Amino acid sequence: MPEILAPEQVKTALRRLHENGFAAYAVGGCVRDSLLGKTPLDWDITTAARPEETERVFSDCRLIETGVQHGTVTVLLDGLSLEITTFRVDGDYLDARHPASIAFTSRLKEDLLRRDFTVNTLCWNEQDGIVDLCGGLADLQNGILRAVGAPDRRFSEDALRILRGIRFASVLGFTIEPNTAESILRNRQLLTKVAAERIRVEFSKLLCGKNAAAVLDRYREVIAVFIPEVRTLFDCPQNTPYHRFDVYRHTLATLENIEPTEALRLCMFFHDFGKPVCRKTDENGQDHFKGHQKVGAEIVKPILKRLRYENSTVKTVTGWIAIHDLKSPKTKIEAKQLLSKIGADDYRALIKIKRADNRGKAQPHAIDEKLRRMADFLAEILENHECYDLRGLAVNGDDLKAVGITDGKAICDALNGLLGLVITEQCGNEPSALLAHIQRAQHTEIG
Ligand code: ATP
Ligand code: MG
Repeated sequence: MPEILAPEQVKTALRRLHENGFAAYAVGGCVRDSLLGKTPLDWDITTAARPEETERVFSDCRLIETGVQHGTVTVLLDGLSLEITTFRVDGDYLDARHPASIAFTSRLKEDLLRRDFTVNTLCWNEQDGIVDLCGGLADLQNGILRAVGAPDRRFSEDALRILRGIRFASVLGFTIEPNTAESILRNRQLLTKVAAERIRVEFSKLLCGKNAAAVLDRYREVIAVFIPEVRTLFDCPQNTPYHRFDVYRHTLATLENIEPTEALRLCMFFHDFGKPVCRKTDENGQDHFKGHQKVGAEIVKPILKRLRYENSTVKTVTGWIAIHDLKSPKTKIEAKQLLSKIGADDYRALIKIKRADNRGKAQPHAIDEKLRRMADFLAEILENHECYDLRGLAVNGDDLKAVGITDGKAICDALNGLLGLVITEQCGNEPSALLAHIQRAQHTEIG
């Protein structure tokens, strides 16, 4: 079992509380992740000290009191912010999310019983080592996610746990224990009570997990609670020679074949949302999905906004969806034409998206060679500093003004005209050649 490599500040905080007579442990995700050999994102401390006692112990530090009504004092220790929470039991939950009241307790076990999953109840300090009062260690070792106590009660207390559960299953690659799993499905409607921001955070983490596809398949009905539009993908057939899966299963297969960054995973999850409405079956029984890229982008935009994704994420993801099915360029000229429209970043993303998309089809490797060529074109264009956009053009607006073109639109049209000539190799990208072109055009117009 890996050692707990707690940062010095965590050890100092635990030691200080201990020296002042208060039991204190690192708890939850930090212990779980350490034991799994991962670096924890944040360290939480649970202690018998009441908030005012914690504040006294750390009176020489910067303190943030925002969580104090729930027993949490945030202490800034040598640049690390630590949430130190008093052992507590939660009162009744009224809104499927927040306890109406909390009470402090001096018993660690009571504090652990309010936590969501057994693997999140593990504690550690230097004196006692790992403390496992709820069977979390065995579940961690067996890769099992199990609700603490009766699952129905725990999920109806706080519906966010439903989503945390499937997020952990995806990220940790754990199996959800059968009673917990059934309860997640049974209580899924409670998720309608959870704020969109919280859903978004969990959904993104879920999408980026190593087991995302399997979890999104098994718990598709949970996802459909906050993205009802996804239902149209379930069992939507694709009778084409290119596909072997229905639209939803195809989607999940593509997700596994792209790196786990939020925007790319969102793109793959949503890329075919336009297919069900665009599906047309011809007289031979074959399906066509003409226009599904643009339609999909339109369908997905309000979904992402509803889930409170940042505007930049909405723009990037819907932009990719709208181009995901573009043909890969066959020549360097076509590559530059594409680059001039979408830019180098989206061009690179498009290679990844098309590769992932294809991995979920009937012949997963059919376009590998084309995509390799697409990447080679870009490498060559960048290495040779070949021009593909107005920034790379050897003349600019001022140069055109100098030869007598003054109208803004005329300058814009002329620059784009020149760019087209350079890209299609009808004119070299040198000022003299380009200006000569302009002057010839001016003569023709006058003549
Ligand atoms: P991560 O930090 O990777 O998102 P985590 O389990 O550490 O996962 P935090 O939100 O940091 O999640 O919470 C710390 C601990 O607090 C959890 O491990 C768990 O013990 C407890 N906890 C958090 N959210 C809930 C909840 N909604 N219901 C019950 N216990 C919770
Ligand atoms: Mg955490």
